[in-house]
Amino acid sequence: STDRLLGDAYFAQSRQLFERISRTIAGGESSYARLKKGLELCFDHGEGSHFWDIDGHEYIDYSLGYGPLIFGHKPKRVIQAVIEAIERYGTISTFPYELDAEVGELFTELVPGVDLLRFANSGTEATMAAARLARAYTGRPKIVQMEGAYHGWADTHLWSSHPDVWRPQLRPYSPRPIPGSRGIPEVYGEALLIAQYNDRESLERLFAEHGNEIAAVLVEPVQCNSGVILPEPGYLEFLREITRSYGALLIFDEVITGFRLAPGGAQERLGVIPDIATYAKALGAGFPIAAFGGSREVMQLEATNQVMHGGTYTANVVALAAARAVLTEMKTRRDELWAVLNGFGERVREGLREACEAAGLRCIVQGIGPVWHIFFAKPDAPALDRIRNYREAHAYTSIDIYDRFNRAMLRRGVYFHPYHLERWFISTAHSESDVQATLQAAHEAALEVA
Ligand code: PLP
Repeated sequence: STDRLLGDAYFAQSRQLFERISRTIAGGESSYARLKKGLELCFDHGEGSHFWDIDGHEYIDYSLGYGPLIFGHKPKRVIQAVIEAIERYGTISTFPYELDAEVGELFTELVPGVDLLRFANSGTEATMAAARLARAYTGRPKIVQMEGAYHGWADTHLWSSHPDVWRPQLRPYSPRPIPGSRGIPEVYGEALLIAQYNDRESLERLFAEHGNEIAAVLVEPVQCNSGVILPEPGYLEFLREITRSYGALLIFDEVITGFRLAPGGAQERLGVIPDIATYAKALGAGFPIAAFGGSREVMQLEATNQVMHGGTYTANVVALAAARAVLTEMKTRRDELWAVLNGFGERVREGLREACEAAGLRCIVQGIGPVWHIFFAKPDAPALDRIRNYREAHAYTSIDIYDRFNRAMLRRGVYFHPYHLERWFISTAHSESDVQATLQAAHEAALEVA
């Protein structure tokens, strides 16, 4: 296969390696979203805000391993801390140990709504655990999720994530979930209801009809899996109130926003405290760790083991040593780190808007601090000033322009994810010269594409 916008030669070495990988690894990758067909870029190494592919191209990285690399590639302090911890402890502790206390103390100090937490290995696991906890706490069966959200690939959550995105017409909105894969038993869908993000009425209707069955609303506080969609003013407060008034819990999936929008994640930055929240990605700065936690009252069910949660690898030395180093950095250098993340984030967003405007390309660039997305308008796109939910993203977005802009940037050494509903991340390793090079590339790319 080959990418029609890059041609055969561009990833010649990559393609060769990819073919070799594909002989033993199903599909050539171990996570469904890593590649876009025809764009089988193979990684050589990363350093700071840059990475290199095996064909020798260098890129400024705005994908950052799907978000974890908040300090960029090869964060020295974190890596050093992990090495020292392995030398001190080994790799796995079958028992509680000091790192549990240290990370727990830092975590609860930084995140306002977490009194007690548990570690897990991935965002998928943490979210499954949070949903189970909510069902146990309320004694109710159903979870509400938002269309276009992604909470991991578990049977219980992989529903209505990106329904029918490749077809010309979306089905009309319905609260009935649509499975995100073959092989997911229908019965799991019966325990879910789907609402539209930022649409109060869709949720009010679900509560009016199913109020005594709903255990929790599970939501990305900023919906970062349909591009990046910000909550409308008052929307998170509305979620807080309506869940409380029906005796349901509010779960924030902070896998992307946690330790990224602020040390205390979306709940700190946007000022709404959920009952339970889930974390992964930036918490480990590239090392695999996740967590879920919440109020003492709700987490009491975990504390007394009335709700089962576990895992051979949970709270392993590598994960906790990384998290301790990450949280220590965030605690001690908060202002300096977020000045870079917010400042450069805003500069790039502004520059992307200007580049598109100068080229006459209609687009919406939206995000917050270190995460954002660019939606290019299709010729017949509705005149929107912002995208408020998955359906609007779908109605507005030109996949073709996105693809062409993506490849035009890629050829100029700027990498962001080739899928039109993924998002851009920035790290504390990005520099002034990265920003300038990115915006120069954006001006050229926008003119090329327009
Ligand atoms: N929740 C959100 C919001 C995510 O974006 C993701 C992954 O991208 C997950 C959960 C799943 O996390 P993981 O890939 O670590 O299982």
